[in-house]
Amino acid sequence: MKKVLACAALVALVAGCAAPAKPSPNAPPAVQAPAEAQPEGRTWSTPDAIREMFPTWLEPAEPFRVIGNIYYVGSKGLGLYLVTTPDGDILIDGGLPENADMALASIRKLGFDPADVKILLNTHAHFDHSGGLARLKQVTGAPLYASEGDRSALEGGFYLGSEDLHEVDAPPVKVDHVIADGETVSLGGTTLTARITPGHTRGCTSWWLTVEEAGKPYDVLLFCSATVAANRLAPDPQYDGIVDDYRHTFEITKDWKPDVFLANHPEFSGLWKARARQEAGDLLAFVDDTAFPAYIQAMQADFEKQLAKQQAAAGGTD
Ligand SMILES: [Zn+2]
Repeated sequence: MKKVLACAALVALVAGCAAPAKPSPNAPPAVQAPAEAQPEGRTWSTPDAIREMFPTWLEPAEPFRVIGNIYYVGSKGLGLYLVTTPDGDILIDGGLPENADMALASIRKLGFDPADVKILLNTHAHFDHSGGLARLKQVTGAPLYASEGDRSALEGGFYLGSEDLHEVDAPPVKVDHVIADGETVSLGGTTLTARITPGHTRGCTSWWLTVEEAGKPYDVLLFCSATVAANRLAPDPQYDGIVDDYRHTFEITKDWKPDVFLANHPEFSGLWKARARQEAGDLLAFVDDTAFPAYIQAMQADFEKQLAKQQAAAGGTD
């Protein structure tokens, strides 16, 4: 029985981190349904099974320039971003452990040098975004900046609140500098601002920066995540204060309207559709200030639904 529960929890954990199924171009991104993500007759008890479940996570993707000095160096299913500057580069997220070497190859393919990566950032301490950081740090020698809320999970290599599920462990990686809400990271004329958008993880960190394209400035948001995934909201929360944290995130993001919305699961922001438009000649294919508001509204609606469901399952309304 225990094993069944563990497997079910794992499916939800992983599926919650994954991309939603193909949203239509003008609709808010679909909210994922973890239970539907499990094909019949499979088990999810090993890291290999997770990779089998989400084959795009390890499917190589051609790297490309997104806008301004932001480059995509992730796989088909996991977003990793390189911000280049004259004084060195910033790499955001590590993907799974296997994505690290893929990202390094992508950086080289773009004509950049991994040795020029001076700072590593992370959106959140889940294995599909932090798993490659230890390897990236080893190769580049760059320090990792991350939030206090996610520090223990990054340094311990566990999934906060699900420490017993070793299938979703990540290689431990030391946080060299703790980033606070509103803190900026500057390098070579580019400044990124950290906003702690907690809930999905305790220290979920979203990053704002301004880039220039064709002589005009554009505000870019790389959003952490606001999916409930397998997070326990009630009665035994994934971590203390998680419900308040999600609500705080929805409150502070309700007026956010970035020109460009990027995500660590590319489907969340419609990245590949925008990339197709870019390849067809649209230089500003990633500019769409309606994308993030639609996404975050869908996330908030899903959060309230999941919370009600979990509270009902727990047999109470509180
Ligand atoms: Zn996650």
